[in-house]
Amino acid sequence: MTFKASVLTLYPEMFPGPLGSALAGRALRDDKWQLETVQIRDFAPDKHRMVDDTPAGGSAGMVMKPDVVARALDSLEQDNRPRILMSPRGRPLTQDLVRELASGEGAVILCGRFEGVDERVIEARNLMEVSVGDYILSGGETGAIVLLDAIVRLIPGVMGNHESGETESFETGLLEHPHYTRPQEWEGRSIPAVLTSGNHKAVDQWRLEEAKRITRERRPDLWEAYQNRSK
Ligand code: SAH
Repeated sequence: MTFKASVLTLYPEMFPGPLGSALAGRALRDDKWQLETVQIRDFAPDKHRMVDDTPAGGSAGMVMKPDVVARALDSLEQDNRPRILMSPRGRPLTQDLVRELASGEGAVILCGRFEGVDERVIEARNLMEVSVGDYILSGGETGAIVLLDAIVRLIPGVMGNHESGETESFETGLLEHPHYTRPQEWEGRSIPAVLTSGNHKAVDQWRLEEAKRITRERRPDLWEAYQNRSK
């Protein structure tokens, strides 16, 4: 089974974009995952191809029309893939959610524009709102690219070195330890001696302590969750 992403957007030319390069791009060419785009405007019934209209109740901006968005969604094969709406009001994207999505058959991803999408289509088509962070993007497309990038690297066979996926920040509940590589000395700074000691146990211990220190200093929220998890 190949992970299949269907992205509904007014800007299909934004895809695959960055997902066409590097690991994700190679995996796409190797058919380890699939990507299709659907131009929402193709589902606007009137001759002006209108996809948005003014907000009920007044205010600035425009709202994506429920009938057009629903027709675009309904044009896809009805399968078990989750239907996601990129939305700043959504469930925050975390590595847990990424893992959950990556283990499924794929995802249908609706990219909002303007002020967003008519609430009724969110309800009627059971869309799961997902946010990539507490800031406002101009559209859902860049969020969808972030989401898919995070998912695709978890698909088996996509990442070269499998192990490097498992010690990554968030996979352990901690931010990652610092990394070093040659030269041994650079601008008067040395690689911590333990890392070149050849003592693997001491290296693991050092890395864990550093991961804890960095998490405690930078992300008290994650640190608290980590401590509760290991209780
Ligand atoms: N009026 C909305 C913002 C609309 S931004 C509000 O204040 O909440 C236009 C579109 O960009 C949204 O419909 C959504 O699809 C996308 N978008 C913006 N910020 C996002 C975020 N943080 N996460 C996911 N999608 C986002």
